[in-house]
Amino acid sequence: MTATELLALISAALLLQLAAGIGWTVWRQRATDASAKPATPTMAPHKSEAAWAGWRDFRVAQRVFEDEAQSQCSFYLQPMDGRPLPPFKPGQFLTFALDVASRPLDGVAALQPITRCYSLSDRPDPAYYRVTIKRMPAPAPEFPPGLSSNYFHDHIQVGDVLRVKAPAGHFFIDPDPNVPAVLVGGGIGITPMMSMLRWCIAQQPQRLVHLYYGLRNSREHAFKRLIEEMAAAHPALKLNVVYSRPCDSDLQGRDYQHQGHVDLDLLRRTLPHGRYQFYVCGPPALMQTLVPALAEWGVPVSDVHYEAFGPASVKLPGAAGSDEPVATDIEVKFHRSGRTLTWDGRDASLLDFAERHGITVESGCRSGSCGSCETRMLEGTVQYEHAPDHDFPSGHCLLCVGRPSSTLVLEA
Ligand SMILES: Cc1cc2nc3c(=O)[nH]c(=O)nc-3n(C[C@H](O)[C@H](O)[C@H](O)COP(=O)(O)OP(=O)(O)OC[C@H]3O[C@@H](n4cnc5c(N)ncnc54)[C@H](O)[C@@H]3O)c2cc1C
Repeated sequence: MTATELLALISAALLLQLAAGIGWTVWRQRATDASAKPATPTMAPHKSEAAWAGWRDFRVAQRVFEDEAQSQCSFYLQPMDGRPLPPFKPGQFLTFALDVASRPLDGVAALQPITRCYSLSDRPDPAYYRVTIKRMPAPAPEFPPGLSSNYFHDHIQVGDVLRVKAPAGHFFIDPDPNVPAVLVGGGIGITPMMSMLRWCIAQQPQRLVHLYYGLRNSREHAFKRLIEEMAAAHPALKLNVVYSRPCDSDLQGRDYQHQGHVDLDLLRRTLPHGRYQFYVCGPPALMQTLVPALAEWGVPVSDVHYEAFGPASVKLPGAAGSDEPVATDIEVKFHRSGRTLTWDGRDASLLDFAERHGITVESGCRSGSCGSCETRMLEGTVQYEHAPDHDFPSGHCLLCVGRPSSTLVLEA
C-alpha cells in the first residue's frame, strides 16, 4: 500500500466515524425531544385541506335507532373503494349529496338534488364513519316535512350508496388534555358531543369532561345506555342530563339529573370553579341564550366554541363581526341573472335576499357549512357575523351567511 492510499483509507475511516457520530447525536436529540413532550393524542392534522377532493362513494353498512321514539337513526358508512378512512377532528361533519323525490307536481315527482351536512357522531375509526340523523317533521300541516332527514329515515337502507364529501368544519375539541371540557348538546346537537366524548374517553381517559345533555324526556334520549355506561366506567366524565318534560315513568337520579333547561344558572351551580373549554351545539333557543350568557359570565370568547345545525344568529359580545351594524342601501348586482337590486337590510343573508327576489342560486345547509352557495364576487365585499365553517378562496363569498358591506357584483 502506497502512502497516498494509506492516507485516503485513514481519511475515509475518519469521515465514516464523524458521520456515525452526527447521526447518533441527531437520533438521540430526537428521541429526547419526543420523550420530553406530553403524549400527543391521535387527531387529524390541523389543516384546512379536505382528506379527499370532491365526492366519495360510501355504502351504508348498518342502521341503528338511538332513541326509544326511533326519531334518531345512526348510519354506519364504509367507503366503496375499501381504503382506510382518514382520521377527522371530533366535532367535524360530513356533507352529503342526495337526489330526493320532490313533491309531485301534476302527479309527476321529479328528482331534486340537495346537499346537507351531518356531524360525525363517533370517534375516528379507519373502518367506518357514523352519522346520526333526526327525522324532522313538518312544523305545521301546511308545510312539508324535512326533505333529507325523512329521506334518510324512509329510504336509505343497508347496502345503499351515498355520495359524501370529506370531514370538514372548524368546530372540534381542543386536543390539550390539561383543559377540562364542557360539552353542551341540546337535542340532536348531542351528535358532535358524542364524537368528542368517545374520542376523549379513548385517548384521554383522565381528562375532566362535563357533559350537559338537554332534551325532553327518555323517549328521545339518544345513546342513553352508552352514555350511562361511559359515565359509570369513567369517573372523569361528569354527567348532567336535563329533561324539560319528563315522562311519568322517568326517574330523576336514574334517567336524568336535572329538570328544566341547560342554562347559565345550571352551569354556575354544577361546575366547580376553574377554566374550561365550552362546546355548545343545539337548537337556536339554546345557542342564542347560552352562548352570549357564557361570554357575559366572563368566559373568554376564545374558550367558547359553538355550532348551529341551521340558520341561527348567535351574538357573542366581542366576536369579530358581531358588533358591525347591518348596512343598508347597497347595490347588489347578480351578473348572470342580469338583475341589479338594492339591499335594504331586511334579509338575514344574501341567499334570502336572492330568493325573495326570485333569483335562483344553489344552496344547501344555510349555515355556512356545506359550500353549496359559494359564489364568485366580481366586485365588492361581504361581511359575516362569524367566520363560516366552509373554507373558500378569496374573491368568493358564501351567500347563505353573508351580507354585502359595499356595492357588490356577484357572478350568479
Ligand atoms: C354542520 C351541521 C351539522 C349537522 N349535523 C346534524 C346531525 O348530526 N344530525 C341531524 O339530524 N342534523 C344535523 N344537521 C342538520 C341537517 O343538516 C339538516 O338541516 C336537517 O336534517 C334538516 O334537513 P331536512 O332536509 O330534513 O329539512 P328541510 O327540508 O331543510 O326543512 C327544514 C325544516 O323546515 C320545515 N319546512 C319545510 N318547508 C317549510 C316552509 N315552507 N316553511 C316553514 N317550515 C318549512 C321542514 O318541515 C323541516 O322541519 C347539521 C347541520 C349542519 C349545518
